[in-house]
Amino acid sequence: MSRVPSLEDLGNVNGKRVLVRTDFNVPMSGPDDARVITDDFRIRAALPTIEWLTSRGAHVVCASHLGRPKGKPVAKYSMAPVRARLHELAPGVELLENLRFDDGEEGNSPEFVSQLIAGIDMYVNDAFGAAHRSHASVVGPPRTLPSAAGRLLQKEVEVLGAMRDNPKRPFVAVLGGAKVSDKMGVIEALLNIVDSLVIGGGMCFTFLAAKGYPVGDSICELDQVATCRRLLDSGKTIYLPDDIVGLDANGDFATYGVRLPDGAKGLDIGPGSAAAFSDVIMDARTVFWNGPMGMFEDERFAAGTRTVAEAMAATKAFTVVGGGDSAAALAQFKLDDEVDHVSTGGGASLELLELGDLPGLAALRGAPNVR
Ligand code: ADP
Ligand code: MG
Repeated sequence: MSRVPSLEDLGNVNGKRVLVRTDFNVPMSGPDDARVITDDFRIRAALPTIEWLTSRGAHVVCASHLGRPKGKPVAKYSMAPVRARLHELAPGVELLENLRFDDGEEGNSPEFVSQLIAGIDMYVNDAFGAAHRSHASVVGPPRTLPSAAGRLLQKEVEVLGAMRDNPKRPFVAVLGGAKVSDKMGVIEALLNIVDSLVIGGGMCFTFLAAKGYPVGDSICELDQVATCRRLLDSGKTIYLPDDIVGLDANGDFATYGVRLPDGAKGLDIGPGSAAAFSDVIMDARTVFWNGPMGMFEDERFAAGTRTVAEAMAATKAFTVVGGGDSAAALAQFKLDDEVDHVSTGGGASLELLELGDLPGLAALRGAPNVR
């Protein structure tokens, strides 16, 4: 992969109008016409890039999506509260209205790209979480404008790229979450680069079914069983849980081995599996974790995810966490400062590991200043 241009590759930015694609998709609450930002972390995270530009005399115009307004203006998703906060943190910096108020954004329409870059001299992408989408604001501006990755995007590419291409071994991927079908592409790609794969969460039941175990009423995707069986037969090391906790047919908390009786629902890995997974993490030199080990939102089924999170914090390995829910779990256990990197993009981090590139990065590499 050739190099993705960084801010230094823009040349002289003094007096230039620079469009910065940010990820200001912040959590909000309150009534639709008076929304309040509940966490401004994503706005603060963009400040290093914004200040690099403004301190060198550039005029910065930010642009972001917020929520899923589906191509038309929706009061609930107005950028006004974000703009007010941005003005407090970075006076003089502009913020366009929600990109997804126009269906040209997700549709990648040339007209919308022209509208975005009118009067703009340069483009910076600092929105890793959107870099896997071929949306207008991600792939359009670099076709004609000198372009670069901002500091957040650059860090993601460096960390995930190094982990994919040159990991310290043993390299272990720990995968969980609800559905195996969401992540089959990345599971197959990871199998080629990791030394072992650890599987928990809802997706473990499709693998357990592939081994012939009854999974009761647990979440299980029958159309993926054959693929899981092929992966299990591939000769690679795949660790699955050997104890499960969940609810029995009466809705009471219950502990099982790998065979779940009729009506039982597996909702977390059991303590024995959590300890075994934690040993694998402690012995690794690189660990990538995506997807909770159980339904951690319910305290009764959070223990497996907590044990894995504690091992991620304790191991000497280089540790990377990707995925919105995994990052939320880590924050819930107050362990987010104890890992080496928490990726800001769930889907984008998985796609970068799977394919080694993203549409937003390819677009930057093709920009006129680096072509
Ligand atoms: P991430 O956002 O980190 O990529 P996912 O979105 O793939 O993770 O999965 C997170 C969801 O998976 C959580 O809401 C969690 O409750 C759910 N989950 C985990 N284990 C189970 C299970 N055994 N049964 C049902 N849902 C589960
Ligand atoms: Mg999720």
